[in-house]
Amino acid sequence: MKNLSKFTFINCICCGKKIELLDKVQGLTDEQIFDSSDWQANNQMWNNGVVQQISAGYGSSLDGDYFYIGICDPCIEEGYRNGRLRYKGDYISAAICKFSEEELKKQDEMRNREKNLNDLIP
Ligand SMILES: [Zn+2]
Repeated sequence: MKNLSKFTFINCICCGKKIELLDKVQGLTDEQIFDSSDWQANNQMWNNGVVQQISAGYGSSLDGDYFYIGICDPCIEEGYRNGRLRYKGDYISAAICKFSEEELKKQDEMRNREKNLNDLIP
């Protein structure tokens, strides 16, 4: 059975741009990259993007399924600026928030605006 969790690139779910494994960009071969039996895509370094595993839970028609999702850095930035992506924090420097209070407030306003527009649609 093909190992579906080992791959060296994924396309951004928003814009389709290729997000490549940093090891691949730096010239490592697939054999060198996948030499560890516990290799996980979500624990790797990705060039100019984020790749994570997501799982569908109860309530989703896909309950029980796992997926890998990739989002490129520009789409992440656009997502938090337009309020569609929620900022949780920074695990490297937890005490420092990348965004000013004004930027976080603006993100809330954008989400509220979108919610209110959606509420107008029957
Ligand atoms: Zn993108």
